Amino acid sequence: MRVLKYTCLKITILLIRDHLKKENITNMLKAITGTKDILPSEITKWKYLETLVADVFTSYNYKEIRTPIFEETNLFARSIGEETDIVGKEMYTFRDKGDTSLTLKPEMTASVVRAFVEHSLGKQQSLNKLFYISAMFRQERPQAGRQRQFHQFGGEALGSTSPMLDAELIIIAYSILSKLGLKDLAVKINSLGVPSSRENYKKLLREFLNDSKNKLSEDSRKRLDQNILRIFDSKVESDQELLKDAPVLIDYIDEESREHFDVVKTLLNQFHVPFEIDPKLVRGLDYYTKTTFEIVSGKVGSQSALCGGGRYDLLVEQIGGEPTPGVGFAAGIERILLACENEQALNLPNENIDLYIIRLDKYLSSKVFDLALNYRKNGLIVDYDYLDRSVKAQMREANKYNARFVLFVGGGEFLAGKLNIKNMGTGEQKLIGLDDYSEIINLVRK
Ligand code: AMP
Repeated sequence: MRVLKYTCLKITILLIRDHLKKENITNMLKAITGTKDILPSEITKWKYLETLVADVFTSYNYKEIRTPIFEETNLFARSIGEETDIVGKEMYTFRDKGDTSLTLKPEMTASVVRAFVEHSLGKQQSLNKLFYISAMFRQERPQAGRQRQFHQFGGEALGSTSPMLDAELIIIAYSILSKLGLKDLAVKINSLGVPSSRENYKKLLREFLNDSKNKLSEDSRKRLDQNILRIFDSKVESDQELLKDAPVLIDYIDEESREHFDVVKTLLNQFHVPFEIDPKLVRGLDYYTKTTFEIVSGKVGSQSALCGGGRYDLLVEQIGGEPTPGVGFAAGIERILLACENEQALNLPNENIDLYIIRLDKYLSSKVFDLALNYRKNGLIVDYDYLDRSVKAQMREANKYNARFVLFVGGGEFLAGKLNIKNMGTGEQKLIGLDDYSEIINLVRK
């Protein structure tokens, strides 16, 4: 009887402990759904990509621009378009204490154009070529390659109608992706013409779809009245089936847009950028005119667009500036890194530190501190043990950090006024005078 009581008690204790454990786990604070921490182990590839982006843009003389993380909601509603998914469904909008409606930026073009107008950048320079790297926010359903906070880099050229800029931006995007080692890429281009030619085409498309209106998905039926071109963006198979024989915009664009498009194609050929014309590439946003383009990867599943953009000759005026033509693109960094991983692209250099200092005797801590300070002042990446670990454990740590050199401080050598430095690549060792800082620095720097 006593044994049974004891067993019951033990089971109860175990159940309570299990319950508490679960409670604890569920109460643990976590990153918000759709957001991700970028951990130290991933930083190397992010920095590599960001440096490459800055280098390529700089070689085309684009200057970096940074804008605030939030803007007045009105800016996005006016520029991107009230009927788009971004504005209609995906924005993180909130009211601040002054009751102003603010939105975390879902894309960058509107912010860049707002800054361009606000600071009269067009008056200081007739052509402004700008690039950015920034976090964006959209409340979408998270999945591989789709997050709620994600990062984009991109470029915007404001002040010229030249098709050279359309081609240049496509070439920049393609170069960055190629330099990362991506091969499975397809560049898709299209032209949407100017609004007047688009209006004629919209009428035709509406007439074409009128008879089969009831067969369209609910979303597409809504778009029929609000934003008919966006029907082409539908992922519903039956919608795409209905659109198969629909008239395509590119056959109805105005003469000037056609000539513009021809030059873009010629320039892309000249730079050997392989591209295909996708007459159904309308892109989701309202502000595009003439050229639109996307670069897709065959290696990231359903979210295959790595980058997208186009010309927006009417946007600056729409935001309240002087009429100024513009063209730009945005590329998603998380998706690009995913494609790199899936293609096993990105040959990153090994992360290492220059020097790890091993303390052989405990009493030498302040000497090690002092030595490290001196080497670091001279630009070396240096570390040592802060946890009073054994020599063996310190050596393990040096290997973990891929130290190129290890410096032993202590023992008989130290008493004789010397330090032993070991090249971890060759195994070579050398004794150097205790105060001979420059010899060690020069040896490690080489
Ligand atoms: P967009 O501004 O919609 O033209 O997007 C440009 C690029 O940003 C896309 O091609 C994607 O690579 C990336 N992107 C857009 N939305 C997301 C998202 N929710 N999560 C991750 N990347 C995104």
